[in-house]
Amino acid sequence: MQIEKTVSGVRSQVKKWKKEGLSVGLVPTMGYLHEGHQSLIDRAVEENDRVVVSIFVNPIQFGPTEDLATYPRDLEADCILCKRAGAALVFAPEVSEMYAEDFSTFVDTSQVTEELCGKSRPTHFRGVCTVVSKLFHIASPDRAYFGQKDAQQLAVIRRMVRDLNIDIEIVGCPIIREADGLAKSSRNTYLSPEERKAALVLSKAIFTGKAMVETGEKDGEKVLGAMRNIIEAEPLARIDYVEMVHWDTIQPHHRIDGPILTAIAVYIGNTRLIDNFLYE
Ligand code: AMP
Repeated sequence: MQIEKTVSGVRSQVKKWKKEGLSVGLVPTMGYLHEGHQSLIDRAVEENDRVVVSIFVNPIQFGPTEDLATYPRDLEADCILCKRAGAALVFAPEVSEMYAEDFSTFVDTSQVTEELCGKSRPTHFRGVCTVVSKLFHIASPDRAYFGQKDAQQLAVIRRMVRDLNIDIEIVGCPIIREADGLAKSSRNTYLSPEERKAALVLSKAIFTGKAMVETGEKDGEKVLGAMRNIIEAEPLARIDYVEMVHWDTIQPHHRIDGPILTAIAVYIGNTRLIDNFLYE
């Protein structure tokens, strides 16, 4: 497996593969890889001749008071995981390789970024769309893989690809969880043992809401109320949002009569965690 730090290094390798008629899958990540990321790489390896994993903690998707400086990093362990999973290339650039000092072009998506995480992290998706479109131009993949864990991100990327006629297939992959239900996340490492226990309210709320919807509840307010009650019973938890949106528009929709995304963001201590379920 090749490890590349430069844009030109990735481009020349991908060009060689394309000349040989090989298909390329891209898995964009911020590193500190776990089984959630690995499930994306596994799927990409199954569906493509060559797989590129990008590992880049993208500064422009973090707000000024967020955890950019403390975000966990371990490139060595990440490369071992990528190699074992069958990736052909890891792209791990420095910030200066991705952003010139006078960098001034951004990709901004509206509507689908207004609610949920877009509300509490107003510049987040502009950062995500900008870096993902850069990665698309650098790696020229046939397919790119994103987790349903970040459901709004998946919807935003799909909208960007549709709106800008980007010729890349976007593949959404299911949420991978710990044995006790907590969705796997690089940010789970921030949790103290006490907070780790408290964090189970997220998956408990998600599983409860999902069961209500799957057994025929059509009133979104009732579902959201039951989910809020579970979270509010945990003293270490503070709700950022508990919301139900239409899966196509990502606008609030409290009647279960179409594809619905129910998504939550909850602070456990200082750590902000997200989870969701999709009902189609
Ligand atoms: P991140 O490194 O957090 O930016 O995540 C990189 C990609 O991995 C994103 O597409 C995430 O949605 C996906 N991902 C992260 N955690 C999980 C998980 N627990 N299950 C499935 N996909 C995940």
